[in-house]
Amino acid sequence: MSSINVDPIEIEKFQSIASRWWDTESEFKPLHDINPLRCNYIEQRSQGLKGKRVLDIGCGGGILAEALTQRGANVTGIDMAEMSLKVAKMHLYESQLEVDYQLTTAEAFSENNAGAFDVVTCLEMLEHVPDPESVIASAAKLLKPGGDLFFSTINRNPKSFALAIIGAEYLLNMVPKGTHDYKKLIKPSELATAMRANELNLLDITGITYNPFTKHYKLSQDIDVNYILHCTQQ
Ligand code: SAH
Repeated sequence: MSSINVDPIEIEKFQSIASRWWDTESEFKPLHDINPLRCNYIEQRSQGLKGKRVLDIGCGGGILAEALTQRGANVTGIDMAEMSLKVAKMHLYESQLEVDYQLTTAEAFSENNAGAFDVVTCLEMLEHVPDPESVIASAAKLLKPGGDLFFSTINRNPKSFALAIIGAEYLLNMVPKGTHDYKKLIKPSELATAMRANELNLLDITGITYNPFTKHYKLSQDIDVNYILHCTQQ
């Protein structure tokens, strides 16, 4: 039951480019570029990360997991792409950091780790799974009472189609064509419904916007395309 919420085609997409996770000029450049912004957001909103147990769901090659570790967190990273986890583990030799990487789903992991984490992060992952609500329910289960939970994904509307798919995949070649499927993009209102169903309180939602002229990202009020949100248990 617990391991069915995986799309093998999505996992294969990430497997095939896994060797480039730490190449800051590769298809993962956007994730490297936004990493400091989202780490600051997570650190500030959870009132510091030092000594906290953090779970990163869909950790990939460990870009976020390592950055959170550098800020003092005790991080576990889970993903279903084996090659990405190999790359993540190899990179620890270079960074000299410690992260516990495990090949599992949020659903399966939540069975034995309920209430174990102060902070749970799940960034740029929900739009790649068949049932995002199931991941949200598992993330809620994994959280300690009063813990902080963060999701980020891409909104679904004509503007996000133009910028995140046509712009980023076809015009600017920032990420491979086919990275995002328009139907699987998620509106904030849909996430809010899933939060309520899991007794989570939505505390904040912030846009991560890209300026193609300056090539810079910033946190903003504009949640039309990329956004990150913070919630806690009610
Ligand atoms: N969270 C990372 C990587 C985002 S890419 C970051 O923001 O930097 C999406 C990741 O989700 C990929 O590593 C992919 O392998 C992973 N993924 C997709 N479906 C998954 C699933 N069902 N369970 C766990 N990880 C999954």
